[in-house]
Amino acid sequence: MDRQTSSAPLDESTRRFLSRGQYGLLIDGRMGPGKSNKSFDTLNPSTGEVLARLAEGDETDIDRAVRAARAAFEGAWSGWTPYERQALLYRAHDIIERNFDELAEIESLDMGAPISRTRSSKGALLKMILFFASQSGNISGQTLQNGLPGEVVTMSMKAPVGVIGGIIPWNGPLVGQWWLLGAVLASGCTAVLKPAEDASLSVLRTVELLHEAGLPEGVLNVVTGTGSVAGAALARHPDVDRIAFTGSTATGRKIIEASAVNIKKLQLELGGKSPDIVFADADLSKAVPGAAMGVFANSGQICFAGTRVFVERSIADEFSARVADFARGIRIGRSMDPDAQLGPLISRLQLDRVMSYIDIGSREGARLVCGGERMGGALSDGYFIAPTVFSHVDNEMRIAREEIFGPVLSVIPFDTVDEAIALGNQTDYGLGGAVWTRDISRALKVVQKIHTGVMWVNCYGLIDPLVGFGGTKHSGYGAKGGVAHLDNYLYSKSVYINT
Ligand code: ADP
Repeated sequence: MDRQTSSAPLDESTRRFLSRGQYGLLIDGRMGPGKSNKSFDTLNPSTGEVLARLAEGDETDIDRAVRAARAAFEGAWSGWTPYERQALLYRAHDIIERNFDELAEIESLDMGAPISRTRSSKGALLKMILFFASQSGNISGQTLQNGLPGEVVTMSMKAPVGVIGGIIPWNGPLVGQWWLLGAVLASGCTAVLKPAEDASLSVLRTVELLHEAGLPEGVLNVVTGTGSVAGAALARHPDVDRIAFTGSTATGRKIIEASAVNIKKLQLELGGKSPDIVFADADLSKAVPGAAMGVFANSGQICFAGTRVFVERSIADEFSARVADFARGIRIGRSMDPDAQLGPLISRLQLDRVMSYIDIGSREGARLVCGGERMGGALSDGYFIAPTVFSHVDNEMRIAREEIFGPVLSVIPFDTVDEAIALGNQTDYGLGGAVWTRDISRALKVVQKIHTGVMWVNCYGLIDPLVGFGGTKHSGYGAKGGVAHLDNYLYSKSVYINT
């Protein structure tokens, strides 16, 4: 496959940011090298070229950042009123809005998403900041009745938990980090952020901008570095009260183990193998592109990607053919190609992993309908894989059981609604899922019976912070969004007052 690619010129501010070349740790409001002075390259996945050099933080640096976050938590920041924190979030909203073009370009160059996709996330990002601004004045306890003798007044109060360790993945940090940043700023906590080694730049730039917007020093600190050193040091640090983690289930398990050190509270959004169920009565003009982009969006690097597409047997062949046609029509290109709809995978490692799953699928007897290969020509230096469709997949095959995190869609036929539900639930994961049908009663039955944290009907992947989403089973716990989100950053205190 060979699709040519073009590239739009970069914004002046992006060029200025990238011309620094080397980036330090951002601790206590200042950017500087780590203790060891070690650094590592981060690559542009569209070309395989070095994009920037990042400081490689270690345990000592994490400790310094945690101390800064603790001092800020116990300092003037704790006296900020909800209105002051809300005003800070509004200023954050405005500075992110003003600098969005730069942030979007940095993000696309760093993690590979096409610039059209990153630019179109502006509304979602700004909405998220507004959501958290609205939450900062919304923290409340209750007065409670009691059966105690005498005149005792009882109530519950909420207070910020303290220092948060935020371990951020690479599949969309520009927006994704706000589940954490917004909650920290709204609740009055402080944080140490450990961005993913493959995509740290939009996190660094965002926190720099927040300082320009009046963020006090030490409230948000960024330590770049590897997961096994900096991430692990953060997860086991005895003075971190809570970890918010989004990433693989395997790493999530390690974080759960490390949290035992000081009984850290955890919010975990982990892997998925989400079922997307298409009935024969569905409007295929919507279900075909909807299910396809439910997998291929962000080149399949979305935790709730609907990778297992269960299709009613009577339309399974037609559906597979149409979804393959759709996949062949997707324009693949480098992240700065304004016409690209899909970009590369994040890294060589991820490319090899996904290619090995494609090989496994073929060997297990699934039928490769389209894709299954690396992109050639102008794209051969980057980590591109053509959108891939397998048909005649069995739910027991590894490609239907294990998270691939790449643009690989499996069509699995079914005969009855009960069979679709049973197959959909036959997985360790429980993150997302969808159902496509004109029969709303049947849709509701599926919604009720599928064990996942979010379900979509006749659409895929819509998220609003007011509504939120979350995971169950091996996909994690601690909802993102909705009123419950901020509760994860607060603890509740029962108060007995003898009057
Ligand atoms: P992937 O395997 O897809 O890269 P990970 O779950 O390993 O996903 O990565 C998500 C985030 O977790 C990254 O910021 C990574 O550096 C971090 N991480 C990886 N290993 C660990 C670990 N042992 N402890 C803490 N964080 C880790």
